[in-house]
Amino acid sequence: MLDLILKNGLVCDPANSIQSILNVGIRNGRIACLTSEPLPAAAEIDCTGHIVSPGFVDAHSHEDDLREGHIEADITLRALRQGVTTLVTGNCGDAPRDLPAYCAAYDGKQPVNMALLAGHTTIRRLCGARNKYAPVDEATLAAMCETLERQLTEGAKGLSMGIRYEPGMTLGEMCAMAAVVKRFGGVLAAHVRGDAFEIYDAIEEFLEIGRRTGVRLQISHIGSMAAYGQMAEVLSYVDRRAAAEGLDVRIDCYPYDAFCTSIGATTYDDGFLDRYHDVTRIELTDGEYKGFIPNMEVFEKVRREHPEYLTIAHVMNGAEVDMALTHPRTMLGSDGVLLNGAGHPRAAGAFARFLAQYVFERKLLSLNEGIAKTTCEAAARFGLDRGTLGVGRAADVTVFDPKRLQDKATFAEPALPPEGVRLVLLGGVVALQDGKVLHTDLGKIL
Ligand SMILES: [Zn+2]
Repeated sequence: MLDLILKNGLVCDPANSIQSILNVGIRNGRIACLTSEPLPAAAEIDCTGHIVSPGFVDAHSHEDDLREGHIEADITLRALRQGVTTLVTGNCGDAPRDLPAYCAAYDGKQPVNMALLAGHTTIRRLCGARNKYAPVDEATLAAMCETLERQLTEGAKGLSMGIRYEPGMTLGEMCAMAAVVKRFGGVLAAHVRGDAFEIYDAIEEFLEIGRRTGVRLQISHIGSMAAYGQMAEVLSYVDRRAAAEGLDVRIDCYPYDAFCTSIGATTYDDGFLDRYHDVTRIELTDGEYKGFIPNMEVFEKVRREHPEYLTIAHVMNGAEVDMALTHPRTMLGSDGVLLNGAGHPRAAGAFARFLAQYVFERKLLSLNEGIAKTTCEAAARFGLDRGTLGVGRAADVTVFDPKRLQDKATFAEPALPPEGVRLVLLGGVVALQDGKVLHTDLGKIL
């Protein structure tokens, strides 16, 4: 007998080209059958009028910090509430320093599954490189490659680079590290060196790493890099180079026209207004100047005194974000990142917002395309045994009401969970039902 059956939902499983009304049978934490037969089960949930999807897989997020042996479930809980069952984290060069310690504190104690990348900047620091603007010497680079190799052995799915945040990284340094990733068959993700008019050189530099090493590439949050008038040219350039040279390139993006980073980041080094033009479109999420920044004096004062404060920069062009998200190379990545619970609404709303707007309201993508971008594509890219409802696979399932699905998180209230997420299962166990979180400890390290 089955443990649970999800009855009469519209099952959408792009990996297996399934889109029809079926019953999903679950036994021992795995998908046991997809059938139109009414099978006996110990429990059943009627999903009539709902879409039954593989649990969402977030192609690009960040992890909650490990502090004194404990990880606060903040990003992970917001993920669960929007139907995400797996996060790919360790992005933008910044990952846990001690992977085994992080994994031990995480496994079986957090709401969603996690796959970690190693972080280039983190490894740079571990090996003694303190100056983000300076290149590393040969001995340091050798130690970095060795550390990366160890972390890939410990389960990292690849390496992330935050080239923008660590300008001292040279092409030679990056290629040496990328060659290690290639040997392990991992992915190299990067927040590339520049945005706006700097994006063309930045993308070319990143493609050159792929050209020289053969590593699989992932361009991080393309919206915040190129939605300032460059998106069409960048996407077509990537397509042309990939086709001509056999480069393996994917992209992730979040569905908002504002980005989020700390005020102390190199993003705001001298000359940043050449790219974003207007300081009053930058918002602070913390401190006495919380809200929109009135002038450069305030900006510089906060940058000096509180470089860790997060900013939201409302400077991107929405039509170019649409262009990125509807491109076949692009997968959904929330880029969820928080400081003291504050931050960008994307951590709580990206997935619901993407499906609601792009699939159901504006119909820029078919249901199949939208679900593929939120499930199987990221799972396949990072080699995760998730993202499909194939028989025998782990029963991570998200059930939502397509008529009610709606993100609620806003810049003013970034933590609000979306509406319309009916059910989230991890390993066959119901973790969330009708907005109520039932389990927060089902997440595994993948
Ligand atoms: Zn980034």
